[in-house]
Amino acid sequence: MPGFELINKDESKEIKDIFENGGILFRHGFEKLRNNTYKVSKFEKDFAKKFLSRYALAVTSGTAALRVALASLNLSKDDEVITQSFTFVATVEAIIESRGIPVCTEIDNTLNMDPDDLLKKINKKTKAVIVVHMLGVSANISKIKKICKKKRIILIEDTAWGVGGKYKGNFLGTIGDIGTFSFDFAKSITTGEGGMIVFKNKKHYMKAKAWHDHGHENNPKVPRWEDTRSSSGFNFRMTELQAAVGIVQLKKLNRVLFLQRKNAQLIWKKIKSIPDLSLRSFPPQSLPTYDSLIVVMKRPDLAKKFRVNLIKNGINTKILPEAMTWHFAKYWKHMKELSTSHKNKLHSSFPKSEKLLNNCVSIPISCKMKKNIPEIIKKSLLTTFKIKR
Ligand SMILES: *Cc1c(COP(=O)(O)O)cnc(C)c1O
Repeated sequence: MPGFELINKDESKEIKDIFENGGILFRHGFEKLRNNTYKVSKFEKDFAKKFLSRYALAVTSGTAALRVALASLNLSKDDEVITQSFTFVATVEAIIESRGIPVCTEIDNTLNMDPDDLLKKINKKTKAVIVVHMLGVSANISKIKKICKKKRIILIEDTAWGVGGKYKGNFLGTIGDIGTFSFDFAKSITTGEGGMIVFKNKKHYMKAKAWHDHGHENNPKVPRWEDTRSSSGFNFRMTELQAAVGIVQLKKLNRVLFLQRKNAQLIWKKIKSIPDLSLRSFPPQSLPTYDSLIVVMKRPDLAKKFRVNLIKNGINTKILPEAMTWHFAKYWKHMKELSTSHKNKLHSSFPKSEKLLNNCVSIPISCKMKKNIPEIIKKSLLTTFKIKR
């Protein structure tokens, strides 16, 4: 698991630095008091540098990142935004909050957006696509990007759960037009709550930057209280405290990824000789974060048994099969807008996704994994298959 496991004195030192330099917790102004200490601006700069993006904007959460990204597109009333059936509720919530019409596609065996189903669901009203790199694995992003390009649709990558994952050497989130990231407490790196958005297009960036700050254009010719504006906005500004933690956590990202990948390998090595078992597949030339290891069983009953045995042996699972109701659109009847766009048949709208997800068991990967964990997982599998040693 993630960045929070590596929190130590480094983060508190960076926070202390704020208080030793005037204690200014707001990203703007107070120039005379802050001794040139600007944590949010620095975090944005560091992030842009690491991810090789031109424009980065820090916000208060991964959900806010999606909302602000959509604000930069100036959606109008009947515009549709397509995302995938397996994601966190936040992706669809952000579309609804933006007054877009949410539509979900099936997933393919990456457990992310199925490009074939995307192609079927695109129509004249489609304004944007939000592909999600769920649980650290890249979607079939090159196919999806090609489709969006051809149809002239904006591509947003919800990389909340894929911070540090790669596709063909590029960081996930930097391949489409806009990428959003989350630093909540369960993600690869954390600021408690927080998010980041990267943009290819300056126009999107400028609009988002103003919109996340009540429309403030940060016009250098006037003081902030007389600032120019051209639309209303909202407040999704990150605080200096969050950013101080983020600056340090970002430096730890490589270590988090190294440990997760190493520990996932240790588990897989231990269990891969067991028959009828495979791992969730990922596109060639992509590099997952291994935030979790998703084991794919041949049948749903085996997945259920495996989970029971894991829990008996003191190991939790993550999202799959538990917490499906929060991560699979089949169960989101409470989102009226989504239900309506799927003709009130959400429950039967994603048969392919359901079949795939029902065979999956997701094992969380800890950076500080105990030595005996791979053996316990193996034991749970052997019991599941009733294999005697
Ligand atoms: C975590 C997550 C979000 C929301 O991020 P928060 O920072 O918790 O608001 C959005 N989408 C996906 C896929 C996520 O996993």
